[in-house]
Amino acid sequence: MAGSDNGIFSSVRPRRLSDSAVDQILKLVHDGQLPPGSKFPPERELIVSLSVSRTSLREAIRILETMGVLRVVPGRGTWVREDYTQPRLGTSVEWLPQHVEDVLQLVEMKDLLETKAAGLAAERATPDQLIELSVQLQRYRDAVTEGDAETLMDADMKFHQTIAAASGNRFLADAIANLDPFVLRTRRAILSIPGRPERVVGEHQAVLEAILARNPQAAAKAMQVHDRRAAQGVKSAIEAGRIISRGTPADRTEDA
Ligand SMILES: [Zn+2]
Repeated sequence: MAGSDNGIFSSVRPRRLSDSAVDQILKLVHDGQLPPGSKFPPERELIVSLSVSRTSLREAIRILETMGVLRVVPGRGTWVREDYTQPRLGTSVEWLPQHVEDVLQLVEMKDLLETKAAGLAAERATPDQLIELSVQLQRYRDAVTEGDAETLMDADMKFHQTIAAASGNRFLADAIANLDPFVLRTRRAILSIPGRPERVVGEHQAVLEAILARNPQAAAKAMQVHDRRAAQGVKSAIEAGRIISRGTPADRTEDA
């Protein structure tokens, strides 16, 4: 991977045909023609208006669902998710599995900022913030047990947001929050890697224990381990073809 530029990354760079459908749909969403919460027009209409094949359209919808842009209810239809927000930091991250390098850079940036935030949180977290962290860890643990993907995502996000706030540094917290539109998709993809949600429980627990122990070094280290394992999870999943399989639809592992 890291040592060779002809490794796994080169094999995932080529864009698939359905990309144009992905891009077109994203444009409709971003332009407000299909705003968050809106229902998709019938498939026939989309095929005509986007000039794509049915296969490409379905593939695009599947991709956008994985990205957290769309919600598909079998037999009922497809909606733009209510909670979908357009990325604010440019538009380079459109689809995670085809932008592995962006994802890894994002995780690297999270690692830099959140490691610092976790260390500061160990020094500065208020009693309320400590309680909130415990609550979110428990929510996360319960969601893993129940296989509740949405709560899992939410609890993970709130756990990290609380640590950012608990750093007591507004600018650091803002810098982390600015990554949120990207992190949303990255988190969804990472948490859909089989086995990853279960491992996160222990990683979050290590972060929380260090913060509770008011040990900045241990908290920073635990957060670093968490983010690096996420990056490793992405790399391994790609190697195993779990996120990406060249030219064929990726496995559905959303509720893993
Ligand atoms: Zn996490």
